[in-house]
Amino acid sequence: MIRNLVGSEWRVPPEDASSLPIFNPATGEVIEHVPLSGAREVDAAVHAAAETFEGWSRTAVMDRVRLMFRFKSQLEDRFEELASIVTRHHGKTLDEARGEVRRGIEVVDFACGAPTLLQGRTLRDVSAGVDQDLYRFPVGVCAGVPPFNFPVMIPLWMFPLAVVAGNTFVLKPSERTPLGGQRLAELFLEAGFPPGVLNIVHGAADTVDALLEHPGISAISFVGSAPVARHVYTAAAAHGKRVQALGGAKNHIVVMPDADPELAVPAILNSAFGNAGERCLSGSVAVAVGPAADAILDPLRDAASRMIVGPGDQQGVQVGPLIRAEHRDRVAAYVDKGVAEGAELIVDGRQEMSRPGFFLGPTILDRVTSRMAVGREEIFGPVLSVSRAATLDEAIAQANASPLGNMATIFTQSGRAGREFRERVDAGMTGINVPIAQPFAFFPFSGWKGSFFGDLHVHGTDGIDFYTRKKVVVTRW
Ligand code: NAD
Repeated sequence: MIRNLVGSEWRVPPEDASSLPIFNPATGEVIEHVPLSGAREVDAAVHAAAETFEGWSRTAVMDRVRLMFRFKSQLEDRFEELASIVTRHHGKTLDEARGEVRRGIEVVDFACGAPTLLQGRTLRDVSAGVDQDLYRFPVGVCAGVPPFNFPVMIPLWMFPLAVVAGNTFVLKPSERTPLGGQRLAELFLEAGFPPGVLNIVHGAADTVDALLEHPGISAISFVGSAPVARHVYTAAAAHGKRVQALGGAKNHIVVMPDADPELAVPAILNSAFGNAGERCLSGSVAVAVGPAADAILDPLRDAASRMIVGPGDQQGVQVGPLIRAEHRDRVAAYVDKGVAEGAELIVDGRQEMSRPGFFLGPTILDRVTSRMAVGREEIFGPVLSVSRAATLDEAIAQANASPLGNMATIFTQSGRAGREFRERVDAGMTGINVPIAQPFAFFPFSGWKGSFFGDLHVHGTDGIDFYTRKKVVVTRW
């Protein structure tokens, strides 16, 4: 059984603690167990973080940054190890895991810029003989609740920026993929950060509720499904906490008749089937405008049927398993539902379900509409829906009809169409001729509508604003 980290102590769970198995999704084997912590364990972690806060928040910025550089160097030294931990208990391919670890480290790179990022501003002589200065202060103990699909990257979206700003942190990793956060915490301590700056409390929904209710926590960063994001936002706000809650997605990829199929087809495959579709930036619906459907459907069908499905640590594999058997079955049920509602199944990945592990191959449904469940709801698996639109206006209207607004992307050779799309699509992360419009660490991860609850997004300068509060000092001598 893995352990919570409270201050400097890796705590053995109580004898009667409930736990959940952690699987290798490529084989279905149980590889570890994760304890389900209750309010008592949460309280211990928050206390450790609160006790450390005063000293840490007064530690010189350059000392905090020096430790962050050391952490960065630990992460680089352990890059391959971290990627293999991700593949082993999440299932994604090693290349995808390497991409995840790299994107996560980039947030640490960004955090190393704290001496600039944490600066305030000043205006002398705001009135005669009076100056005003704005300082940034940490907010206190912060908590982070990541989802299962990026066990290293998403924890790194949260605690490095929080702690470099002088806060202390309690991380509750996903109960399905807790080994990434666990290893990050070990490396964090090895880098020399004082015990108590980062604490880990394992568990599931009840553990999150205990964090939401705990009066010692000032701010919560959450990433997960839309209904839970809404719950976390509401409950955290009701308990007087700062909150940023990132939710689910239903991303549209618009393909214009002038799009270059040689660029668009591989990009759509990458967007829909990379990470086995378990990505909040996965393309879920390809909207073919006018004759674009004729240009892309055959190549999509051929290439998707040829994609290599298998364990993520095997050379050449392009699509790994899903996270759990129940999730795989839920995704497969969407395929049945799509067919029952009138969609045309042109690639069926369900034959992969017979192998050991939690596999489902790339699947494509054509003639999907937004009235169908597959056209409307987040599936979070390797299922691509193709819908049709007569014009760009109609395609934008289809994307905008979704209550979620994480990402939308367009493939076109027309600057005018690209610009119209940028101006009118209601998605906070918009791509033009790219499969995945992921902001780098120095920009905010900026979902809109039901994909985000809060004001300040994760990372970028929004992250710094989220983890600091401002004090304005007015001076006359
Ligand atoms: P999830 O909502 O089931 O779980 C996320 C976290 O919330 C976990 O740590 C879990 O323990 C906790 N949790 C689950 N149910 C809870 C409840 N009822 N009350 C309190 N806490 C609860 O999400 P998941 O399945 O782990 O992750 C997949 C989802 O995350 C997808 O919807 C995906 O789109 C979304 N996601 C969004 C982003 C983004 O940036 N917007 C990024 C990655 C994933």
